[in-house]
This record gives sequence, structure tokens and C-alpha cells, in this order.
Amino acid sequence: MTPVRISIVVFLLSLLITQVIAFKIAGTEKANEQLLVEQEAVNVKTKLLESLNHSITATRILAYLMENDLVDENFTSVSRELVAQNPFIDALQYVVGSSIVDTYPREGNEPTIGYRVMEQRSHKQGAMKALERGDLYFEGPIELIQGGIGVVGRYPVIKNGDLYGFSAVVIHLETIYSALSLDSSGITGRFIYQIYKQEDGSPIPFFTNDELFESGLVHSGFIPLGNWNINVKLSNPSYLWQGLVISGAGLLFSLLLALFVAYLASEPKRLQELVDKKTSDLEKSKIQLEDYNTRLRQSNSELENFTRTISQDLQEPLRMISSFMRQLKKKYGDTLDGKAHTYIDYAMDGAENMRLIILDLLVYSKIGQNMDQRKSVDLNRLVGNLEIELKKIISENNASITYPDLPEIYGLEYEIHLLFQNLITNALRYRHPDRSPEIAISQNGTDSVWKFGIADNGIGINGEHFEKIFQVFQRLHTEGNYRGTGLGLAICKKIVEQHSGNIWVESEPGKGSTFYFTLKKEAGAGQG
Ligand code: ADP
Repeated sequence: MTPVRISIVVFLLSLLITQVIAFKIAGTEKANEQLLVEQEAVNVKTKLLESLNHSITATRILAYLMENDLVDENFTSVSRELVAQNPFIDALQYVVGSSIVDTYPREGNEPTIGYRVMEQRSHKQGAMKALERGDLYFEGPIELIQGGIGVVGRYPVIKNGDLYGFSAVVIHLETIYSALSLDSSGITGRFIYQIYKQEDGSPIPFFTNDELFESGLVHSGFIPLGNWNINVKLSNPSYLWQGLVISGAGLLFSLLLALFVAYLASEPKRLQELVDKKTSDLEKSKIQLEDYNTRLRQSNSELENFTRTISQDLQEPLRMISSFMRQLKKKYGDTLDGKAHTYIDYAMDGAENMRLIILDLLVYSKIGQNMDQRKSVDLNRLVGNLEIELKKIISENNASITYPDLPEIYGLEYEIHLLFQNLITNALRYRHPDRSPEIAISQNGTDSVWKFGIADNGIGINGEHFEKIFQVFQRLHTEGNYRGTGLGLAICKKIVEQHSGNIWVESEPGKGSTFYFTLKKEAGAGQG
């Protein structure tokens, strides 16, 4: 599975889990809040019923007085007592026939005296309900004739089997508010309340708020004592909000988790890609290197074959030329004139020169081939042997070679021999015509390299040619007796470089030259 797929699966799973959790939490919270509303509805209903209980008692006592014809003389004193004892009763009155006979307290309630209750439709309906129930029944809230809004509870008084009248209780809405510990709006920080009559068209509600109770967290109850519906609603339910917050947090968490998982999942892949890339780069370089090596080996062996072929194949015709020329001179020497003899000599010289070039090329091509055969080379012995080899030319030139105690170095003996031989031979060949050659070998160096100098007092070299003379076939002195192949210093350079060193010249034309070269001190090399 790719990292992207893994993270998508993780995201979906995590989202599912967190959303289910959010849903459950919201559901639980909703149930809790619903319970809270129910408890509050019960609480309000209980408070209302408790306050109305006082009215039941009071109206029953009054009814008893009426039934027993004791009301006229006792109404005021009994009512005073009852109103004083029951804080949720504002007034008591009694109705005989259809009219209110008396109301306690009188003060403020004067308009009620003599009011014909049963002639007013709504009052009559309320009174009839009480008769139906045979018990206290509240009308209202209504606008009271004595002013204000309140409810009127009537208890039917039956005398000799007929309706005699009603004992009644008046409660202002303010009194009910204080009984319920609410104000006229019916709104507290947590709940909204409303109580209204069920059957009437557009009844006066208990509270002034116009909240609708069809939706939201609502609980309703019913109070038969006044046919009132009681509604309580939670003003700011938090279950939805909590659910949304948890759901949002779940979404965020799932996203972060998916990103983290994607990162974790892609890490090994990235590392693997990096390793693969590096491996393939290395393999490519290896293949390239092998290719170079093969091509180098090929070109080396081609060069070697080429030079061997040249040296072998060309030497024969060269020998033949020389030999024919010699025979020509021998057989027809007497008949040939001086010019012909000169031409023959040129031809023989040319052939000899060519032979030497071919031999030097062969040497040049083979340098560095057997580096694994390096060993300790005693330079004192090597230079001593050279002196013996060059004895003839040294004495012919009346030359001198001086050298200090030389070290043992580590290298290919044959090549080091060739190096000293070429440099010393050059010092003898490019001698100044006016003085005997004096060759001085010097040696110093550092911890890591030997440095040698071969100084002569010969003809010297112009500064502009210091670099050029180390290239193949670069000769400065082609005229006169300076015979050569133009390969000697190129061979020296190649030998020194194969031994991890450098070669250069310092010279002053007419005074002499010093050829310097360094050789790296390597493991196994003698330290002199
Ligand atoms: P060759 O000596 O065969 O010409 P080399 O490569 O040995 O070839 O030398 C290249 C050229 O450098 C020579 O032709 C010569 O002009 C110059 N040269 C070499 N050694 C010396 C020297 N010791 N003094 C002056 N010139 C030199």
C-alpha cells in the first residue's frame, strides 16, 4: 500500500471513530439537558401546586361557612385570618347566585362588590367548570375588574342539592411570580417558562415572553386545577455545540494523524529511494570506471602493440637501407662523386636517427607498466654504475660528476636508472663549447619527498622553453652536433610522474641549467 493510501485509510478510520464519539457525547449531553428541563418543569409545577393548595384550603373553609349560613357574620374575620396565613392569596370573596356579595380585603376591591359574575360569558364558563369538577377551578389569567391581571379560583357551594354560589380566591400574577421565584418575563439565565390555558382561543399567558415551545429542549406539564399547560425550555442547550466542537476536533485530529502517518509511511520509502539512487549512481560510476579502465587498457595495449610493431617492422627496412647504402658505397664508391657520397651519408644518418627514435618511443610507451615491481634502489650504486657506463663520453669531454651521499629510494630501478642517465647524458651533450662539463648532483627534500638536482655548466636554456622541452619531440638545438630524438626529457617526466613527483628546470642561457625532480617517499623506501 502506498503512503497516500495508508494515510487516507487512517484518516477515514479516525474520522469515523471521532465522529461516533462526538455523536455519542452530544447524545448523552442532550439526554442530560433534557432531564434537567424535566426536573425544572416538575419543580415549577410543584411550586405552583403548593401555592395553589392554600387556595383550596381557603375556598373550602369559606364554602363550609356558606353552606352553614355562617358566612355573613364571619366572612371578614375568617378571610382576614386565611389571607394572613396564606401568602399566595390576594383576596377571598363569596358569590351567591350570580353576584359577588363580598370581597376581602375590601380596600382596592370595591368594584367587585355586587359584580354579576354569571352574566359574563367567560366567567360563567369558568364557574361551570368548577361545578362540573365539583371542586376548585381557576379561571384566567384575566383582566380583573378591580385592576391588574390574575386568576380567580371558584369552589362551588351546593345547598339542598342546588348550586347556591361560589367561594372564590383571587391571585394576582405578581403573587404567582413570587411563588415561582420568577419575574414577569418568565426567563432566567438557563430556562424560559410559560403557562397558559389550554382550551381558550388566545388566552392571556402567565409570562410576557413570546417564546415558542414546539422545538428545542422543552418539557410540558398539565395542571387540571386551571387547565393550564406548563412549559419549560432550556434557553441555551449546549449539547449541539459540544458535539460540533468534538466533531471539529476529531476532524482536525484525523487530518493531523493522517499527515503524520503519511510522513512516517513515506520515510522508509524516501530513504529507500535515496539509497537506491546512491546505489545506482555508484553502480553507474563503477561501470563508467570499468569502461574507462577497459578503454585505457585497450589503448595502452594498442599503443604498445603499435610501438612494438613500428619498432620491429620499421627496424628491418631501416637496417636494409643502411646495409644497401653501405654496399653501394663499397661497390661503387670509386665511381661515385663527392656529392653522391654525401647523400649516401645523409641517408645512413637518417636511418640511424629513425632507429633511435623508434627505440626511445618503445621505452616511452613502456614506462609505468611494472610499478608493482618497485623496490629499494641504492642511488649511490646507481650513479656509480652510470659513471662506468658513460666513462668513455665523460673522459672524451673531460667532464666531472660530483654527488653527495645519496639515499636509497623506493621505485622501479630500471626507470630511475633511465632518469639519471638521460639527465646526465643531456648535461654532457649540451655542454658549452668553451669549457669542460661540470655536473653536480644535489639532494635534499622534506619529510614526504626527495628532491634531487642535476646541475651543469652547459649552454643553458631560454626561459620561454622551460615547459616545452618536457613534451615529446620538442628539441631546441637541432643544428650542429646535438643529435637526439626529442624524447629524453619526455621520458624523464613520465618516469617522475609515475613515481608521484614533479620535474622542472631552472637555467640561464650561456651559464648552465639545473634539472630538479622530486620523488615521493613511500612505504618501504629507504630514508638515506
Ligand atoms: P634531445 O636531447 O633528444 O633533443 P630531450 O628531450 O632530451 O631531447 O631534450 C629536449 C631539448 O631540451 C633538447 O633538444 C635541448 O635543446 C634541451 N636540453 C635538454 N637538456 C639540456 C641541457 N642540459 N642543457 C641545455 N639544453 C638542454
